[in-house]
Amino acid sequence: MSAFDPDQIHVPAGHFIQGRLIPAPADQAQDVLRPSDGHAYASLPMAQADLVDEAVEGAYTAWRGTDWARRPPRERARVLRRWADLVEADAPTLAPLEAVGSTRPVRDALAWDVPFTADGLRFFAEYADKLGGDVAATRTDHLGMTVAEPYGVVGAITPWNFPLVMASWKVGAALAAGNAVVLKPSELTPFSVLRLAELAVQAGVPAGIFNIVQGDGRVAGAALTRHPRIAKMTFTGSTATGAAIMAACAQHGPKPVTLELGGKSPQLVFDDAPDLERLAGVIAGAITGNAGQVCVAGSRLIVQKGIAAALVAAVAKRFAAHRPGATWDPDATLPPIISRAQALRIDAIVQRAVQAGSVSTSGGLRGNVCGTGSYYLPTLIEGVDAGNPAVLEEIFGPVLTVQTFDTEEEGLALAAHPHYGLAAGVHTANINRALRAMRALSAGTVWINRYGRSNDFVIPTGGYHQSGIGKDLGRQAVEANQRLKSVLIDFGMPG
Ligand code: ADP
Repeated sequence: MSAFDPDQIHVPAGHFIQGRLIPAPADQAQDVLRPSDGHAYASLPMAQADLVDEAVEGAYTAWRGTDWARRPPRERARVLRRWADLVEADAPTLAPLEAVGSTRPVRDALAWDVPFTADGLRFFAEYADKLGGDVAATRTDHLGMTVAEPYGVVGAITPWNFPLVMASWKVGAALAAGNAVVLKPSELTPFSVLRLAELAVQAGVPAGIFNIVQGDGRVAGAALTRHPRIAKMTFTGSTATGAAIMAACAQHGPKPVTLELGGKSPQLVFDDAPDLERLAGVIAGAITGNAGQVCVAGSRLIVQKGIAAALVAAVAKRFAAHRPGATWDPDATLPPIISRAQALRIDAIVQRAVQAGSVSTSGGLRGNVCGTGSYYLPTLIEGVDAGNPAVLEEIFGPVLTVQTFDTEEEGLALAAHPHYGLAAGVHTANINRALRAMRALSAGTVWINRYGRSNDFVIPTGGYHQSGIGKDLGRQAVEANQRLKSVLIDFGMPG
């Protein structure tokens, strides 16, 4: 039995501008496929530059014309909290809507994506009245301060792997700081955020403060990025697209940009790591969750020789136990790959890795799981050297490379990646070694004896090197949506 019937889901389709869903004229729409079975299930309007312009100008007018930026911050916080409550209460609608068009199993969407989206909005709401600026240490007849102000209209571009959660990180932080937002979701997963926007309006976010334009990255996304009224950009996606967005921000601003980009994150395991079975679960989960389509996926296992064979065998057992299936199949444990093209790309890297001399065990492309959906079984690649394509390239699928080492120094050298530095895991019972590794690893996040974010929003996330600039989550995400005005008052004159 299915957890829901994918043909019975009501899918809102359109842009969302000035508080209203704008359906597309039929000649401007493009079929969107369900990743689970390859079925076309709704039509996506494809915005051209003129529609992006209309949305951004409307957002600017709303930002100037409504009291969103000027109302007491606690009032703004109250609206965001109300929005979070509506999102949570809407889980029976939102979770299947998220699952039908993405790679998120409905079980996970109910248990995590929707509540995490709501809690993220609450987290940002708490900052609405807490980051107003600082008082400077000036001479006593002066008063110097910084006053935090919103930018105006923030442009946000999000990827397809966690459509609701990624949008809530960008939009929640920007709105809490008093900005308006124009969001362009991924053209592969464009619909669930429309429901999020409808609920925002119901909660009291003024019409025009949160808008969504749909379309192609190189058309709608690029038009958004270069629009003169977009004062700041925030983006999550590939490193190449992030670089293009940053270049456009330099050329058409300059305007600040927050980028959360690619990764090739290591899991460094020492011989003394406790509880091999639990550890195997952590290692396997970090690369099979969402079928590896996670920016911080732990895609490189770097393991000390003493426990390598036992750990790899335990991970392989967990890999083999996975059952691929549609996001509405309650018995499936491995969701689909987002598109056929992406599945073929994963496979091409694995084939090149094998040609370069490594050994691929199990896994691979799997047909006939559900319609024409694309599934990729968890794959281990052993015997790789540091130059192997599977070690160097971000695969964005359930593919784990294995490298072994003797000394701590060797392990740390293997863990370093020439370009990426998004996240890293360290597993050891030795606190000194764990902290040495934490210092040595050049990554924006280091997890020790765990892998993956916890549900507290206060720890910011973002990468080093080509993995990004700036942070999502945390106080820092709200600060990134504020600019600072410096004020100096001289009251030294008599009177
Ligand atoms: P992926 O390869 O994971 O699809 P991308 O980085 O290409 O990742 O896409 C992430 C988001 O960036 C999507 O919403 C996409 O439409 C958008 N995008 C792609 N190219 C551009 C571009 N040149 N300018 C702005 N946005 C873009």
